[in-house]
Amino acid sequence: MIQSILAEIENDIRKYSPYPEKVRLVVVSKYVDSKIMIDAFNSGVKIFGENKAQILKNKKESFDLKDIKNVSWHFIGNLQSNKVKYIIDYVDLIHSVNKLSLAEEINRQAGIKGRTINILLEVNISGEESKEGYILENLKNDIEDLQKLKNINIIGLMTMAPLTDNENIIRDTFRNLKNLQDTLNKDMFNKQLKELSMGMTNDYKIALEEGATLIRIGSKIFK
Ligand SMILES: *Cc1c(COP(=O)(O)O)cnc(C)c1O
Repeated sequence: MIQSILAEIENDIRKYSPYPEKVRLVVVSKYVDSKIMIDAFNSGVKIFGENKAQILKNKKESFDLKDIKNVSWHFIGNLQSNKVKYIIDYVDLIHSVNKLSLAEEINRQAGIKGRTINILLEVNISGEESKEGYILENLKNDIEDLQKLKNINIIGLMTMAPLTDNENIIRDTFRNLKNLQDTLNKDMFNKQLKELSMGMTNDYKIALEEGATLIRIGSKIFK
């Protein structure tokens, strides 16, 4: 069952992405427990995405999953600075860095552990008040300070599309993130921003067409 859905998504990556070889699937496992995750792992999942720090830690340390090495853990949810300590040992990419104080705490904790942590900057492209993520103006103000943090490595951008059935609005959101990536790569990041994390169950095909390199899919696989 999981296997056939994963195969379908792999097909969609080849069908919709302009560069399928660059695209990775983040399997959003927040809906299921570690037992089901082991099934998913055995079906070929390479990246799990969780949105709660304590739960990522519990799952990673669980009997089912603690000995599994060749799987990556991504953090995709809203992260409070005081929870960074739960995931710092385990996380391979944090998708959702949306303020300088959070980046500074990740940098500090990473320093203690002697690690460099890969992160994405989450951007509120649509400007909706309810959305997490950097407003463009704040992002531009913070970039210089973010770039000074030695133990984090900014490798791309992430966004969530607005909740709407209007495909044009969703597509515009993703296209604007891609354009922002191009602009920042040219002006300030010297092509260092390689990843674009965008697209979930309901909109991942559009995200692939618009250049996503990380798609985050949960419901389609587990519900
Ligand atoms: C839950 C979640 C997803 C997965 O959404 P689905 O619609 O279930 O595929 C992706 N990204 C984030 C940040 C999430 O919290």
